[in-house]
Amino acid sequence: MTVALERGAELDRSDPLRDHADRFVPTDGSVRAYLDGNSLGRPAVDLAQVMADFINHSWGSRLIRGWDEEWMDWPLAVGDALAAAALGAAAGQTIIADSTSVLIYKLARAALSLRSPERDEIVVDVDNFPTDRYLISGIADELGLRLRWIRTDADLGITPDLVARTVGERTALFLASHISYRSGYIADAAEITRIVHAAGAPVLWDLCHSVGAIPIALDNWQVDFAVGCGYKFLNGGPGAPAFGYVGARHQDQARQPLQGWMGHARPFEMGPGYQPHPGIRSFLTGTPPILAMVPLRHAIGMITEVGLDAIRAKSLALTDFAIELIDERLVPLGVRLASPRDHEHRGGHVTIVGDGFAEVKDELWKRGVLPDFRRPDGIRLGLSPLSTRFAEVALAVEEIADILG
Ligand SMILES: *Cc1c(COP(=O)(O)O)cnc(C)c1O
Repeated sequence: MTVALERGAELDRSDPLRDHADRFVPTDGSVRAYLDGNSLGRPAVDLAQVMADFINHSWGSRLIRGWDEEWMDWPLAVGDALAAAALGAAAGQTIIADSTSVLIYKLARAALSLRSPERDEIVVDVDNFPTDRYLISGIADELGLRLRWIRTDADLGITPDLVARTVGERTALFLASHISYRSGYIADAAEITRIVHAAGAPVLWDLCHSVGAIPIALDNWQVDFAVGCGYKFLNGGPGAPAFGYVGARHQDQARQPLQGWMGHARPFEMGPGYQPHPGIRSFLTGTPPILAMVPLRHAIGMITEVGLDAIRAKSLALTDFAIELIDERLVPLGVRLASPRDHEHRGGHVTIVGDGFAEVKDELWKRGVLPDFRRPDGIRLGLSPLSTRFAEVALAVEEIADILG
């Protein structure tokens, strides 16, 4: 065993969350290190039983009665559980629904329904996740608004300075990712929100890469709108529904455009015209994806149990270890770290860049080491605090060194 592998094994032995890694479905022999929990989290071992119970007892036995008995409440109840466990948000402001993309559309449009006519610009950054950029440019076209693009350093992300220089009296909305999907840089969401508010506009934060990885305080930061993903650090499963947060103060003014029967004040009256339900429920559109909420609900339970402070501590220990090994083993081979070194700005994944990394990633997958690759030249090591072992980090770095060396 190499020094790095020994250190990894030792860190696993002293890890206070080490037992949690055993609570996930073991991979078959084809995977030796899973480092993509920031793209698709792993399922818990007992989830199969939870799914079977839902099918046998809730769906199978309660049948149509299940809607009245509990499912109608799930989008809000599971949303509240997530808000308490991971969003720093009081109840009544979060729903589980749709996908992140659809919720970006709904909540950006809702935010823009609040604007006064002289505010005709949406402030966004060039390095945001593609779906965010595509949706917001579609919305700008639809409403005849202009996009003001902020250029960011790709190894970092959006900073208060850049935002302060861009927002102003024409700003109608600011949209950005809390953690950059590329570098893992954590934006100062509290300070940026303050700056945007001082300019008189609302914020919409995309929390896809921060939820479940770092503590979030939406209410304290006075965030207006937020969205995020259920299948990354939340382990909700492939295509899990997303979540949307609408600050209580906006719920009765802001109108989202996809007004379906599930957001209606009285859905079962089946009346002639649309009347929004009071509060967060008006942000629902159609029948909620109950079956797909079962794994998400289960995973939120696990996060509640462990707590985000312990999750963040493990996350930083994992990324510290990764960076230490990258400096020791990979930098001498021409690799560059493309993620923040300071804890304050470092999220749950670490990106490294180098020549031929697309092929390096293919070779890693062949060897059973699964990170992901982001164009043009970045390999992302996604370290999921509840399921990733330090030994997996060590193994991945050793394999990359072996391929490059
Ligand atoms: C993963 C991710 C998404 C995904 O959106 P979907 O609608 O689930 O495909 C959106 N935004 C960011 C920042 C992401 O990281």
